[in-house]
Amino acid sequence: MSGCKIFSILQPIIAFFLLLFTQGEYAGLAAIKAYLNSRGERGRSVCLIPRSAHGTNPASAQMAGMKVQAVEVDKDGNIDLAHLKALVDKHKASLAAMMITYPSTFGVFEEQIRDVCDLIHQNGGQVYLDGANMNAQVGLCRPGDYGSDVSHLNLHKTFCIPHGGGGPGMGPIGVKSHLAPFLPSHPVVAMASVNSSSSLGTISAAPWGSSAILPISWAYIKMMGSKGLRHATEVAILNANYMAKRLENSYKILFRGSNGFHAPTMSWPVAGTLMIEPTESEDKAELDRFCDALLGIRQEIADIEEGRMDTRINPLKMAPHSLACISSSNWDRPYSREFAAFPLPFIRPETKFWPSISRIDDIYGDQNLMCTCPPMEAYDSPYEEKRASS
Ligand SMILES: *Cc1c(COP(=O)(O)O)cnc(C)c1O
Repeated sequence: MSGCKIFSILQPIIAFFLLLFTQGEYAGLAAIKAYLNSRGERGRSVCLIPRSAHGTNPASAQMAGMKVQAVEVDKDGNIDLAHLKALVDKHKASLAAMMITYPSTFGVFEEQIRDVCDLIHQNGGQVYLDGANMNAQVGLCRPGDYGSDVSHLNLHKTFCIPHGGGGPGMGPIGVKSHLAPFLPSHPVVAMASVNSSSSLGTISAAPWGSSAILPISWAYIKMMGSKGLRHATEVAILNANYMAKRLENSYKILFRGSNGFHAPTMSWPVAGTLMIEPTESEDKAELDRFCDALLGIRQEIADIEEGRMDTRINPLKMAPHSLACISSSNWDRPYSREFAAFPLPFIRPETKFWPSISRIDDIYGDQNLMCTCPPMEAYDSPYEEKRASS
């Protein structure tokens, strides 16, 4: 039974696999806090979070009553170990936890992940693994092995459900056995192995989350099986590296590890960059089409840079070209209509998707907000108006 196999992959990582939906991050941190309190370490409240983290991490830490301290990252996107050591040293008496995203939000498998976790443990803290990038790990590695105490699975990142199930960090958490007694309990539904006297309390009204949405993750796991899930992970990593390789001569690849690179979930972690996550879902032909498009755009940039194309009126800056623009009687541009409409061989008349309008100045719109607040009278019905005037 493939579903059981998945469970057996996950089981050694965690003594308990408690399904907890919505607020996974909060639940994990609250369990850490309850555990520390039980040991008489109420004063431990500092949560270290790398600057590369997703904004939900500090938000959840604050909600769990922790004090957030940011850890610098180096130019390769890795946690700055020297800064981490300094922070740990400074806060060792009050260190509660560190939240780590692995591979990081910059897509890099941090090589010192074990050292980072060891350092936190040696100084009395617990490690929370943000599971948003589990689709680079499922079937290949187990967060518990490299040091995580609470490991989270973002179901809308790795297990096929849409966003909107409730966040931050919608999905189950798994904890090592020492944290199990502190997991959430429920006043109506008895939760196996959770002792209400040590439990952190109740977090959600429906202890196992939304029955409308979770069958999707269940069916995905069941249909993929353990081999299929591992294969999906391998393909996701391969796709990211393939794309980086095809684009590396034309675009600057900002972060990559020495052994592997995985583009994480869609985000905008560094201003002026585009993060691309191909995932396992696209086939090679689609990846190639996407790379061809990016390389074509780079060529259009080079044509401007090297003086072959006008700096103002060029295919790049005038794109997208709508049907109205291409078919207009006036065409006074220094490039052909054909190139404007079909810049690459795979864009053919039969399959071309025509944009309905040309470029709009989004930034202008963002910087010049216009508020339309019609007065209440604008809502008056004609019937009321008639009555008033009669
Ligand atoms: C998506 C994501 C989260 C969780 O955010 P949601 O609001 O629950 O989607 C946390 N960390 C990382 C790195 C993420 O990519």
